[in-house]
Amino acid sequence: MVKLLTAILVFMALGNTTAFASEDTRPFAIAVHGGAGTMSRAAMTPERERAYHAALRTALQAGHAVLADGGTSLDAVVAAVRILEDNPLFNAGRGAVFTAEGRNELDAAIMDGATLNAGAIAAVTRVRNPILLARAVMEHSPHVFLIGEGAEAFAAEREIPFVDPRWFHTDERWEALERARAAEISRAAHEIPYGTVGAVALDRSGNLAAATSTGGMTNKRWGRVGDVPVIGAGTYADNASAAVSATGHGEYFIRSVVAHEIAARMRLAGRTLEQAAHEVVMEVLVERGGSGGVIAVDRHGNVSMPFNSDGMYRGYMKSGGEPVTAIFRD
Ligand code: ASP
Repeated sequence: MVKLLTAILVFMALGNTTAFASEDTRPFAIAVHGGAGTMSRAAMTPERERAYHAALRTALQAGHAVLADGGTSLDAVVAAVRILEDNPLFNAGRGAVFTAEGRNELDAAIMDGATLNAGAIAAVTRVRNPILLARAVMEHSPHVFLIGEGAEAFAAEREIPFVDPRWFHTDERWEALERARAAEISRAAHEIPYGTVGAVALDRSGNLAAATSTGGMTNKRWGRVGDVPVIGAGTYADNASAAVSATGHGEYFIRSVVAHEIAARMRLAGRTLEQAAHEVVMEVLVERGGSGGVIAVDRHGNVSMPFNSDGMYRGYMKSGGEPVTAIFRD
């Protein structure tokens, strides 16, 4: 009897060890972007370039640390996006672009690939980290998408930190608004800012998540909302295919339902992540005149980051690897 019990205990212990070992060796990955658009090497100083690379690395390492500890892809993308929102270099949270009225109106979304739950918010003006509010909408409300004052009332209920709107102000974005105001409306409308931020991740349990946050486009008017908080356009995640976060001229991304289109091509047409992301960004969007790019990760930990603009602040970090960051088409 004792022998039998010992044998059962040894078997269980071995079984558990094997389970932990296989969990530990499962691949995980995170990718981030800090926006795509018209950017030239000539206008980029070495200091600025270093600052962008450092910021992307910090965000990647924060997300990677969560995943390495066995944390969820949702926690990883939120950790990465929060850091980029707080960094004034990017058009999200602090450093967001200005509307025509000189305000910062912020949009964000998050999606859980395991459950297909999603949360999105638009046109908030006082929430320090819009991505935290998007997550609260997903996890603590019966809704998917909240806007403006109502979204802020919900944020207050959930005790999400607020800031004075001046927190978001940077002189650089204000000057961009003044340039856009001085230019013809038609040109200003097509000026693509860069700096929207996003993250996609695969965790050790095989779950995917995507998160995106933005100030939208410089000089936007009439309560304009872009693709970022539109689930399926700028943000999408489904364990059956991929997690995708987009950046670029939002109107085009909405009309082409970019993030979902990539996932759908994988699920229904058997495309690989690389094929699907490349087709949608480099063919569909280009044919329709839409400038920008995406970051995407699949359930095997493959990462794809195509863009059809001059550049895209981007990077990835896989299970055992170092952070890899890039800005231009090298
Ligand atoms: N996609 C964002 C928007 O249209 C802007 C961007 O990514 O730069 O609001």
